[in-house]
Amino acid sequence: MKKTLTDLSFKAPFTENFQGEDDINFMPRQTHNALYARIQPEQPSNAKLIGYSSELLSELKIDSLDQRSIDILTGSPDENIPYYSLCYGGHQFGHWAGQLGDGRAIILGEVEGVNQRWELQLKGAGRTPYSRRADGKAVLRSSVREFLMSEAMHYLGVPTTRALSLTLTGEDVLRDMFYDGNPDYEQGAVVCRMAESFLRFGNFELLAARGEIDNLRSLVTYTIENYYPEIDPSDQDSHFKFYSEVFHRSIDMVIHWMRVGFTHGVMNTDNMSILGLTIDYGPYSMLDKFDLNFTPNTTDLPGRRYAYGRQPSVVYWNLAMLAESLFKLDKNNDKIKTLLQSYQEIFYRKYELMMHKKLSLTECDKSTEFIQRTLQVLEKFEFDYTSFFKLLETIHNQSSIDKLTREEIKEFSYKDISSDDELLIKAYLKEYLSLKDFSDSSLKLMKKSNPSFILRNYLLHEAISELNQGKRETFDQLLEALKDPYSDKHLKSFPKKAPKWAFKTAGCSQLSCSS
Ligand code: AMP
Ligand code: MG
Repeated sequence: MKKTLTDLSFKAPFTENFQGEDDINFMPRQTHNALYARIQPEQPSNAKLIGYSSELLSELKIDSLDQRSIDILTGSPDENIPYYSLCYGGHQFGHWAGQLGDGRAIILGEVEGVNQRWELQLKGAGRTPYSRRADGKAVLRSSVREFLMSEAMHYLGVPTTRALSLTLTGEDVLRDMFYDGNPDYEQGAVVCRMAESFLRFGNFELLAARGEIDNLRSLVTYTIENYYPEIDPSDQDSHFKFYSEVFHRSIDMVIHWMRVGFTHGVMNTDNMSILGLTIDYGPYSMLDKFDLNFTPNTTDLPGRRYAYGRQPSVVYWNLAMLAESLFKLDKNNDKIKTLLQSYQEIFYRKYELMMHKKLSLTECDKSTEFIQRTLQVLEKFEFDYTSFFKLLETIHNQSSIDKLTREEIKEFSYKDISSDDELLIKAYLKEYLSLKDFSDSSLKLMKKSNPSFILRNYLLHEAISELNQGKRETFDQLLEALKDPYSDKHLKSFPKKAPKWAFKTAGCSQLSCSS
């Protein structure tokens, strides 16, 4: 018999291990001494499936999604599902914000997959005690962005939460997309996300801030036992070992972001996964033009705290906040302090290794300097970050440099390349040629490090505009392309850079948190 979502067995070990608020009550409130609150999602009026991940269906051993499954994935309550939302806090834009919590995320519980256990979570299925004054809903625009990008990141090889499904609720939701006092109705939608766990730094920070030390200790132990089984929780050093894992995973995550040109846009500590996964896709953007100061988030414009080039320092700052919370358990955990102090050194070592692969450089003293020079060239000549490395892949001898015309170089850049620029770029390419490692293994790693297809904002913008008119061609094309991002076949199907209109179109180059 064919299996569908209702055949899965949903468990909620988290709710069995911790105190929570078991009465269903949507009143916005502080939930002291409760790590979760039980929820009833809102029945959708007319649930409709827009997209799903066939890979995740197989992972869950599901053959297909019948209408009942689609309803459940859009919020229709089911008596066999132990719904709950998590209580957490966080530092937002550098300031402690107190209790935040899952304002529009509802966990369905855990299921066994083929390879691992998964939590399923609905985003946009209605209010929870953590919704504050908001409605707990999400719109099609932001849901398409989360659904496609989290899957795209997975196939790019970046640790991330996943997305099982994208559905419409059948209701319209009022949103002020540009925060300019002109709200409008948009189609309501729900994404069902999947991850081993949705715990964030903020879950730990809130317990530390509230002085709920026993709860904090239990949460650390629970996290170790469930998600870091290689650590023995009774080991004297278990807290340090746990922190060290989170520390390294977070660095690896941000190195991947720097590699593929991902800018998260809202790296608050409530948006930092305790498993080192990319989480909470909001006003993110892939880089088109290389620019270390680029931030896609209009709210972030004044300080550019979350700009592309600042992401590694923000991860450091966020890790320091997590360390502060753990110090409530072991006051002077010197090992944690020492590890934190070595962040910069560890980050740069890993960053250089990554850039080394992206460039296929030979081992030599000049490579550090050359990586810096590459970043300067990228910035000065306003190259498209992704396409620039595809150009470098074509450099294998002097003639491949000589025959490059100015017009061809312009296809990779957002600047009006002058003849002087052309000379400087060719001088750089000549230096590159002398440092490039042409061994098969190194060239293979280079290809695996440089995607040919990325989900540019303007592509998402087109897919969303079409879906709003009931057309799904671009959406389907993107969902297919993102599954194979390193294949050269995309070089023919997609332009080398974002079109000019993309930089002027509202909701395309700059995004707000409105979702
Ligand atoms: P984010 O910027 O998406 O990470 O959200 C920050 C906080 O605001 C989290 O606690 C969210 O749950 C909450 N939030 C964002 N949008 C909504 C919404 N539409 N309804 C309820 N809570 C929301
Ligand atoms: Mg968030």
